[in-house]
Amino acid sequence: MRIIRSVPAMTAWSLGLRREGIGIGFVPTMGALHEGHRSLIRKARLACDALVVSLFVNPSQFGPGEDYARYPRMFEDDATLCRREGVDVLFAPSAAAMYPAGFETGVVIGAVGKRWEGAVRPGHFDGVATVVTKLFSIVRPDRAFFGQKDFQQSVIVQRLAEDLNLGVKILVCPTVREADGLAMSSRNQYLTRAQRQVAPVLHEGLQAGRTAILRGIRFGAQVARAMQRVVEQEPGVTVDYLACCDPQTLEPLPCIAKQAVLLGAIRLGRVRLIDNLLVKVKADRREKDGP
Ligand code: AMP
Repeated sequence: MRIIRSVPAMTAWSLGLRREGIGIGFVPTMGALHEGHRSLIRKARLACDALVVSLFVNPSQFGPGEDYARYPRMFEDDATLCRREGVDVLFAPSAAAMYPAGFETGVVIGAVGKRWEGAVRPGHFDGVATVVTKLFSIVRPDRAFFGQKDFQQSVIVQRLAEDLNLGVKILVCPTVREADGLAMSSRNQYLTRAQRQVAPVLHEGLQAGRTAILRGIRFGAQVARAMQRVVEQEPGVTVDYLACCDPQTLEPLPCIAKQAVLLGAIRLGRVRLIDNLLVKVKADRREKDGP
């Protein structure tokens, strides 16, 4: 595995392969790799001739007072995981290489970036979109793999690739969870033992929302209340949002027709956790069987 830190060297490597008609798969990450990242890397490894993983803790997607400085950085462990998974290039640029003096251009995301995570973390998705656009320009992948764990991000990146004709196919892969349902995240390391015990309540709340839908509830507000009832009974948890939304626009759904995404974010002390579930509604029996 090659470790590349320079932006021009990364592009030169990719252009060389592309000239030979070799397809490049790409998994962008912020490092502190876990089984969720590994699942993306494995999917990409199977699907693509060449594979690039990036490790970059992107300062422009962190707000003031957020965890940029203390975000876990464990380069050696991450490099070992990538090597074992057969990654061809680990691209790990410095912040100065990505944002040199004089940098002043950015991508601005529309309405879909202003809701939910975007409302709690203003400017977050503009930072994500800017770095993803830069990484795509540098790595020149054919296909890029993202996790459903960050549902809003995956919607935004798909929109971005389409709106700006980036020429990259975006693939969204399922969320990998701990045995008790907690979605894997680099930030789970911040949880104290007591918080870790409570953390699965977010997934339990989302599951209560899914159960409500599967039992026939179609009003989004009722589904949201079912989720809130579960999560709010846990002391020490602050709900940022629990919502039943349209999976494309992420607008709250007054009434569920075919599918919904249940989005949730909670705080346990200073730690924020996000998660989601996509729920497909079975066709109404009368519709399916005819009159
Ligand atoms: P991050 O390092 O947190 O920026 O995540 C890098 C990529 O891994 C993103 O596309 C995430 O959505 C994805 N990812 C993070 N956690 C998980 C998980 N538990 N399951 C699947 N994908 C994940």
